Amino acid sequence: LSSEALAKDDFLRMTDRSPATTVGQAGESALIDRIRRRTGAAAPWITIGIGDDAAAIAPDRNRQIIVTTDSLVEDVHFRRAWTAPRAIGHKALAVNLSDLAAMGATPRACLLSLVMPEALPLDEFDELIDGLASLAAASGAPLAGGNLTRSPGPLVIDVTAVGSAHPRRTLTRGGGRPGDLLFVSGRLGGAAAGLGMLEAGERRDALDDSERRCLERFEMPAPRLRLGHVAAFSRAVTACIDLSDGLADAVRQIAAASGTGADVEAGSLPIEEGSVRWANRSGRDGLMSALAGGEDYELLFAVSPRRRRSFLAAARRCPDVPVTHIGQLTQDGEPALVSAAGRLPLPAGFRHF
Ligand SMILES: [Mg+2]
Repeated sequence: LSSEALAKDDFLRMTDRSPATTVGQAGESALIDRIRRRTGAAAPWITIGIGDDAAAIAPDRNRQIIVTTDSLVEDVHFRRAWTAPRAIGHKALAVNLSDLAAMGATPRACLLSLVMPEALPLDEFDELIDGLASLAAASGAPLAGGNLTRSPGPLVIDVTAVGSAHPRRTLTRGGGRPGDLLFVSGRLGGAAAGLGMLEAGERRDALDDSERRCLERFEMPAPRLRLGHVAAFSRAVTACIDLSDGLADAVRQIAAASGTGADVEAGSLPIEEGSVRWANRSGRDGLMSALAGGEDYELLFAVSPRRRRSFLAAARRCPDVPVTHIGQLTQDGEPALVSAAGRLPLPAGFRHF
């Protein structure tokens, strides 16, 4: 984010009093200044931050850089009529931090490329930046730069997250072996239920606490950064992935990358309470939404059975996020859901195209 004109205090005061109400009226340099004021001081490892042609991040010793990118597109991933700008900004960064968590990486910085319709109200712009900035500050990934562009259509929030990980403690999808135990963090199906409630036009004040938690799971996901980090250092995890497109998809991805099969025990799945309530109320299949519903942003681990206790000891360092044993990797074959009814192929996950 670059704008030399911003250094002058007079200019800052002028933009403060500016009557602009949309991003189109405010102009690029005023917008960059608003971002700068909302993101606060950068971390010491960001040696060149917002305001130059590019950012510089000092490398950590004996670590490798982990980079990931993901975008949220209006009317594909969110609707402005349903979700507050603050939550949209939070989620745009959270989905990227979740990918860093799945690698066992420590966040170091983020970049924001914002493609906006000119008529976007300035207060929505501010709130969106606030949502991103507060998660960035809380997770040690300050905004180091980015870009602003005009959109002839939808609002697009494209974020790149940069992290750092020990080369021999970096988790991937591909290290699983037959016999490894599958563990999942947190509770499943909440985000899909939350999206279902928004789509059905449910009124927030008519929902009970467990259902409201599902809305929060969908709108303000919490990346499992600390769990990913302690798990990576437990030396027990052979493979890891985050649940962006559902548990079934995540199991399939780990099995495919590891060259194994997988069995998931239907009865063991930790399903979010509000998701079960919502499924009963709306005539949906709660188990299927826990398996196939996307956007829970939990972590799925393959754990060496010999090191199960080290994994559980590491996971206990994150007491707010339970881990549940849900199955194991097998020799080969189609990943299956195992229940009293027998073995069924796991459902497919969310398909983007
Ligand atoms: Mg991912």
